[in-house]
Amino acid sequence: MKNIIQKLSMFEEARVFHLKFWQTPSFLFLIMGIATIVSTYATYLISSRNDDPEIIILGIATIAGIVFSLGVLLVKIISRIIIISNARNEFLSLVSHQMRSPLTGTKYIFEIMLSGKSDPVTPAQEELLTQGYQANERMLLLVNDLLSLTRMAEGDTPFDYADCDITKLINDVKQESRPNADKKKIRIIMNMPTQPLPNVQCDEKKIRFVISNLVHNAIKYTQPAGTITISARTEEGKRILISVSDTGIGIPSDEIDKLFTKFYRATNADTASKIGTGLGLYIAKNIVDRHYGRIWVESEERKGSTFFVSLPLKQRRMSS
Ligand code: ADP
Repeated sequence: MKNIIQKLSMFEEARVFHLKFWQTPSFLFLIMGIATIVSTYATYLISSRNDDPEIIILGIATIAGIVFSLGVLLVKIISRIIIISNARNEFLSLVSHQMRSPLTGTKYIFEIMLSGKSDPVTPAQEELLTQGYQANERMLLLVNDLLSLTRMAEGDTPFDYADCDITKLINDVKQESRPNADKKKIRIIMNMPTQPLPNVQCDEKKIRFVISNLVHNAIKYTQPAGTITISARTEEGKRILISVSDTGIGIPSDEIDKLFTKFYRATNADTASKIGTGLGLYIAKNIVDRHYGRIWVESEERKGSTFFVSLPLKQRRMSS
């Protein structure tokens, strides 16, 4: 019963938009619906029992007034939701912008020091500087991605569809993720078909972000010495199905539906990693949706999760 109540959109809306449940658009729509039915019935009753046109008009006017007031309230609340949502996006863009400048500055400092133009560096210093440079690069990439992807999530960025070798893309992501996985002694297994996979028409950079995010999450939410399996296969010759499985903390069953919403982090996420924005899956879903694909997860708490991405091999449009 509790689950059914939680799934009602008015409770979900109240939570997401920080409103009282009676202020949510779903609740107000419900009340407006009920008010319309009641008013129709009341008008019928009043007019069938009264001959006095003044009473009939007064009754109808009162009910119309109530419906109108509810309508005004609804419009106000929807405007407030839009303002909150825009403010969040602007905040995110602003933070990313602000972070980009100091990170770019740091990048050049590392480059100058590594080139030896300022002062010669010892091999030990060079190694440390290289590590610093790479960490800064990762952060810069992340911030850039975040910036462009939040814009993309709002529909600003055009998608560049082209033939893409998914096997290579998955291999690249695996290689990039290896240092992170090694630190936690996590094994990454590839489970690819013996026949080569067909090319997929997609925006390679963006699909790379999706796969990379899933593998990155699998590492983050899996205890040391766990296993991650990346698989891919074609479905009915029309789609490609990519999956990323892990033996990690899993996701509570009543939270699975919320995972792909903006800023959502499951209640058990902190047990594995306190670092996270709750944005990756939201952005991933946006990207997959714009490829006319599907992304979903099957998971059992404390056992592990499998994230699936299904993409059509051919896009209906080659650009958007
Ligand atoms: P975050 O930056 O928090 O990792 P994501 O949008 O990538 O944001 O993921 C949203 C939430 O989904 C995470 O906070 C976590 O609760 C859950 N999640 C994602 N991937 C996994 C996984 N492989 N195992 C368990 N939970 C996961």
